[in-house]
Amino acid sequence: MTPTAKDPWLLTPGPLTTSKATKEAMLRDWGSRDAQFIETNARVLRRLLDIAGAADTHVCVPLQGSGTFAVEAALGTLIPRDGKALVLINGAYGQRMARILDYAGRDHKVLETPEDTLPGLGDLEAALKADAAITYVLAVYCETTSGILNPIEDIARITAENQRRLIIDAMSAFGALPFDAAALPFDGMMASSNKCLEGVPGMGFAILRRAVLEQCQGNAHALSLDLYDQWTAMEKNGQWRFTPPTHVINAFDRALDQFDAEGGAAGRHARYAANCKILVDGMRGLGFETLLADELQAPIIVTFKMPADGKFDFQAFYDALGSRGYVIYPGKLTVAPSFRIGCIGQLGASEMKGALKAITEVMKEMDVESGAP
Ligand SMILES: *Cc1c(COP(=O)(O)O)cnc(C)c1O
Repeated sequence: MTPTAKDPWLLTPGPLTTSKATKEAMLRDWGSRDAQFIETNARVLRRLLDIAGAADTHVCVPLQGSGTFAVEAALGTLIPRDGKALVLINGAYGQRMARILDYAGRDHKVLETPEDTLPGLGDLEAALKADAAITYVLAVYCETTSGILNPIEDIARITAENQRRLIIDAMSAFGALPFDAAALPFDGMMASSNKCLEGVPGMGFAILRRAVLEQCQGNAHALSLDLYDQWTAMEKNGQWRFTPPTHVINAFDRALDQFDAEGGAAGRHARYAANCKILVDGMRGLGFETLLADELQAPIIVTFKMPADGKFDFQAFYDALGSRGYVIYPGKLTVAPSFRIGCIGQLGASEMKGALKAITEVMKEMDVESGAP
């Protein structure tokens, strides 16, 4: 949509292609106490709360770093040291939350299903009924490992009905998939400046229930990851505790202007869904198979099974697409050899069609007739 001469199109789970306007918002330096920067920072946090429909009940606390930093900080801040979590896992990001709890020394159980399978809602309910010590349920909204869309509203409902608290990794969902705090009872959700909000990478954030966060002093196991401390300090003077990613925040503000102009999450969902349809239809036309049935597929990133043809060499395929300006992503799955192509970022129909044309050419070059697994 806004090609700069040599930059590749990133059809990946992140970092993602950003618009020229977003990149141009970084062509300045700001001091951390600069009044204009403090105002921009406050505006970005307000806008994120509004997108989540959470302005009356929650606060938004930002953190330097990639999305994982915000996940690690939110889990350590919200879950008391004597708390216990149940982690729903069907991919690498659910696994990562369990690892974070290991590091933080928080007791937890996991409820794991294969990467192409939704968590069992009956199993969730049974696990909660079986263990009264569990205080928190941790779930991933779109598990980017496969692109599967987890049933977050059902998970939220069952968690609330059983009087437990919910923390959502909404990293690859927020800004494109429906998200409304009024319909989705949660204590914490984490996302980042990159992914569906199409800012540049470098900042994560957590949207946390205010009444719960107020009780979280002393929970965190690391100063730099203490979102209670980050929140109370920012409430006092509007400033970050440690060097803020000033350029990232200014770019984020500009990216959110474009998000609004596109019609918010509904508009963005429509573009990503159109991207996804072009991609999946085109790939199926070349014989490729998706890992997931269409009803499990979020329009975020699509996993394709590796073709069976012995002449197909993934590294050569990847490199040849890269030299044509399209970056795809290897698979991370245990259930099947695979690769992934993303639908998110500043990409539209012409980029998806361009990627398909490049894939068709590279298949010809490799003398692979079909992408069938
Ligand atoms: C991208 C992503 C993250 C964060 O990954 P980083 O590499 O730390 O930005 C976490 N969870 C999900 C579901 C993601 O897609």
